[in-house]
Amino acid sequence: MNNNFSQHSETALDRLVKRLARLPGLGSRSAKRIALHMLLNRKDVMEPLAEALQETARDMKTCHHCFSIDTSDPCRICTDTSRSENTICVVASVADLWALERTRSFRGQYHVLGGLLSAIDGMGPRELNIDALLGRIQGEKVEEIILALSATVQGQSTAHYIADACNGLPVTVTRLAQGMPFGGELDYLDDGTITTALNARKAV
Ligand SMILES: [Zn+2]
Repeated sequence: MNNNFSQHSETALDRLVKRLARLPGLGSRSAKRIALHMLLNRKDVMEPLAEALQETARDMKTCHHCFSIDTSDPCRICTDTSRSENTICVVASVADLWALERTRSFRGQYHVLGGLLSAIDGMGPRELNIDALLGRIQGEKVEEIILALSATVQGQSTAHYIADACNGLPVTVTRLAQGMPFGGELDYLDDGTITTALNARKAV
């Protein structure tokens, strides 16, 4: 009889559950439930998902221009000639860019900061793509930058930092206004709220 059962070496399933449990919003219980669901639906769920994961990991690139993620670099938004070159909408993350694109109410360019200023998390101006943004303002035909940042302490201090950095540059700095609930995270807002906030933006 094998008394070392509890010390058995890690199986592929254990590794899968561990990896799933590390995903945002999941814990080990939901990770196990998902893993079991996939195992019971190997052909319909697990194999197509594994393929989609591999394909996405292989094909998606970070756009060196706006720092969004797409199948091409530069991305499809940066190369879309039907979009205005005069306005850059500054967002913290790709999720926020997707939230704004979902509303179809903005037809300009984007710039993804890659986070927000936060002393606690060790996020300073150098950790964000702020220099690249300033470079774009100076080197392109930008007339306005819209700071579409969350109405949180970090979002607002990042907005102030960028507005200060743009001081003296030939660009109008605006930010989202009405519609943003206090403490609201952009990614979680409904389309109508985002559209109202975008249309009611104000000069900083
Ligand atoms: Zn791009």
